[in-house]
Amino acid sequence: MPDVNERNVIILGSGPAGLTAALYTARADLQPLLLKGVDAGGQLMLTTEVENFPGFPDAVLGPDLMERMEKQAARFDAELRHESATRVDLSQRPFRVWSGDEELRARTLIISTGASARWLGVPGEERLRGRGVSACATCDGFFFRDQELVMVGGGDSAMEEATFLTRFASKVTIVHRRDEFRASKIMQDRVFANEKIDVVWDSTIEEVLGGDAVTGVRVRNVKTGQTSDLPAGGVFVAIGHSPNTELFEGQLELENGYIKVHEPTTRTSVEGVFAAGDVVDHIYRQAITAAGMGCQAALDAERFLAEHGH
Ligand code: NAP
Repeated sequence: MPDVNERNVIILGSGPAGLTAALYTARADLQPLLLKGVDAGGQLMLTTEVENFPGFPDAVLGPDLMERMEKQAARFDAELRHESATRVDLSQRPFRVWSGDEELRARTLIISTGASARWLGVPGEERLRGRGVSACATCDGFFFRDQELVMVGGGDSAMEEATFLTRFASKVTIVHRRDEFRASKIMQDRVFANEKIDVVWDSTIEEVLGGDAVTGVRVRNVKTGQTSDLPAGGVFVAIGHSPNTELFEGQLELENGYIKVHEPTTRTSVEGVFAAGDVVDHIYRQAITAAGMGCQAALDAERFLAEHGH
């Protein structure tokens, strides 16, 4: 007897990859179940205007785009639950997925759990998160009108966000651990041309200072070893992202923490498990590429089910 709770497809995560996978598998009549996860909607929920998602010539707000994707998936009978997978067992099929105490079974699994912002891990940072420490300039920049701010990082994100912050801030100081940025030239040029942006090279943040709110950072020059305090009302951290793969460690082949797929497909090291979006891709990391991979994962899962007689 087939288990009534055995689903054709369970999808983990509700960013563009997960919701596109849900849309496609739902339209293929596979009645997918999607667990939205802790940060429902993914990283686009933290952005304002998305100007480069095709089909929206006048831009669309990140949260609006995600709401539209969710509605579209739900229209075709995808079941979306506001729950997170807390444990998985991929050692045999059907795969087992737990959401708290509830055990679910899946003939195929699509993992689209995304990536989360990395933090510095220095004293003061965690305590002052939301009180001046942020990893999202577009979400929080608005609150720092006419203040001096610190941006940490030397990649495109740091350049883009520092430039964005100058709309509000009186000054933005980028603190970078080396003597050159890794960001693309065009983004660097924009930063160097901006009179409101200063750069402190060869330096790391030792501590975020402040009682109830951020008042500054302690900076250490890695070449001279000297420390100094830099006053700031806010500290923005843009030092990259880490894939959300803790749940799958030891069960799926990972590479630098990201799920490894057999390109050009979305097949992982376990047959019947597919992965899409930022949990796989550390190169492109775009909403549209994640959505594209979500579609691929859905088609891969559909084919797998057909081949296995479902
Ligand atoms: P990234 O390119 O990995 O850059 C991370 C930066 O943070 C690096 O400069 C790195 O320093 C620094 N860093 C890492 N760990 C640190 C630590 N513990 N303490 C201090 N500094 C640390 O990440 P990203 O800027 O988020 O960009 C990721 C990808 O998205 C890239 O491919 C980028 O091109 C793309 N992206 C594109 C755009 C755009 O085109 N509009 C915008 C944003 C992002 P080192 O340089 O010394 O390693």
